[in-house]
Amino acid sequence: MNNIVLFGPPGSGKGTQSEQLINKYNLTHISTGDLFRKHLAEGTNLGILAKKYVDEGHLVPDEVVIGMVEDKINSTTESSGFIFDGFPRTVPQAEALDHLLNKKSFPIQTMLMLDVPQDELIKRLLERGKTSGRTDDQNEAKIRTRISVYENETIPVANYYDGQGKLNKIHGVGNIHEIFDEICSVLDS
Ligand code: AMP
Repeated sequence: MNNIVLFGPPGSGKGTQSEQLINKYNLTHISTGDLFRKHLAEGTNLGILAKKYVDEGHLVPDEVVIGMVEDKINSTTESSGFIFDGFPRTVPQAEALDHLLNKKSFPIQTMLMLDVPQDELIKRLLERGKTSGRTDDQNEAKIRTRISVYENETIPVANYYDGQGKLNKIHGVGNIHEIFDEICSVLDS
């Protein structure tokens, strides 16, 4: 069982690297951003509740996110592990995830933190916005809000995992395959 937190600011490549990791290690992908977008598209109550936060690039309240992740974990029957992408984004979310996984006796093994400078993030997100259909990728002010939310509210999660000896920093700029190889060498070591 291998549970991984893939961590990093918006535009750092978490989605891209997740796709390759899922295939190689046969993991179940839990992307809270994708889950919210699905709820929004389906117009569920959760989607309606999350909409104003997602549209503005602010964090959805912890209890909503934690409940959604718990449902997803509990409804997954067969898995050789989870890759958490975009979650946890606050220390209370990280604590809740630990609590949940410890009850199941399969804790987080590793936290991988993709490190990418801010100007590169803005460039990548504006480029992605041309094709992703995501309105939060199409507006530079919203992108800057998301990056500052990451710096102010989410970075403490890195310290939380560092305190558990699980933090691994990955240089997230350059060739996608080389970044993937670096991630694999951490996971295989
Ligand atoms: P992402 O696709 O990970 O960039 O997430 C898109 C948006 O969904 C974020 O800007 C937040 O509004 C919301 N979101 C995703 N994951 C979380 C989370 N773990 N906690 C709070 N809000 C989240």
